[in-house]
Amino acid sequence: MAGAFGFKGCQKIHGPQIRNLLQAKDFFLFDCDGVIWHGEKAITGATTVVNSLIRRGKNVVFVTNNSTRPRENYMHKFYRLGFTDVMLEQIFSSSYCSALYLRDVVKVCGQVFVIGCDGLRTELQEAGIPCVEEEEDQPDATIFTCPLAADVKAVLVGHDDKLTFLKLAKASCYLKDPECLFLATDNDPWHPLSSGRILPGSGSLIAALEVASGRKATVIGKPSRFMFECISSQFRGVDPAQCLMVGDRLETDMLFGSNCGLDTMLTLTGVSQMEEAQEYRNSDVSTNHSLVPDYVVDTIADFIPAFEELEEQSN
Ligand SMILES: [Mg+2]
Repeated sequence: MAGAFGFKGCQKIHGPQIRNLLQAKDFFLFDCDGVIWHGEKAITGATTVVNSLIRRGKNVVFVTNNSTRPRENYMHKFYRLGFTDVMLEQIFSSSYCSALYLRDVVKVCGQVFVIGCDGLRTELQEAGIPCVEEEEDQPDATIFTCPLAADVKAVLVGHDDKLTFLKLAKASCYLKDPECLFLATDNDPWHPLSSGRILPGSGSLIAALEVASGRKATVIGKPSRFMFECISSQFRGVDPAQCLMVGDRLETDMLFGSNCGLDTMLTLTGVSQMEEAQEYRNSDVSTNHSLVPDYVVDTIADFIPAFEELEEQSN
């Protein structure tokens, strides 16, 4: 997409261009990790930017593929890190959207087998979706001897730091039933840790199950459009042309924006760097162009001078 001001993608923007963008857009979608915070630390200036947008009457929502926390828990985190104007209704996590998908789209009748953290189960339970009880498997339990639930209608896979071979084996057995849905909160391959190490993401677990089952998972989180559909159904009249998607990962955030017809902004405080964006832009494979951001900033703190200018103009 060319962007609202005719840029050809990957444009590093500054002062007046950011101010024009702030004036032109009324709906801002932010990814969280790598954009507004790193783990438990807010990115410098991010609280000022988010709180200022909200106070200026802009619509702001957060779209995160992190399925490990329920939204209530996210609320506490936003508050703890200084994003004090954020409300529960502004948070769209892949766990919350997975619950909406199961309840409202496929209207699942039966139990869901969950590979994931407690936060994912909590979201499903709050939406009234029964999950197969997670019993502590005996250390010597195997797929030969463990019980399997009779009415599993969906397998949902998210980030699971307590994944066992037995869980994978059970999921593979449930997926032998072609009527059993195969869903994934997200397909992120890995996540950076502050130590320089990485964490395998849900995508790596899904790959194991896709091979075992010979099936393809339906992905709920970014870059799938479903999260935007959730936002559109809760904020009536959202016009994609009025939206800006701000993220740090080309393969999820920028592609999500492109898939939904939104202008996109890459911030360089997270996973993806300018060189990777330029490689996608210069690629001969046309589908790679959907991963190219319209705009690039070093950090979302680059918005702050634009707010100050707008403030001065209105005085
Ligand atoms: Mg991110």
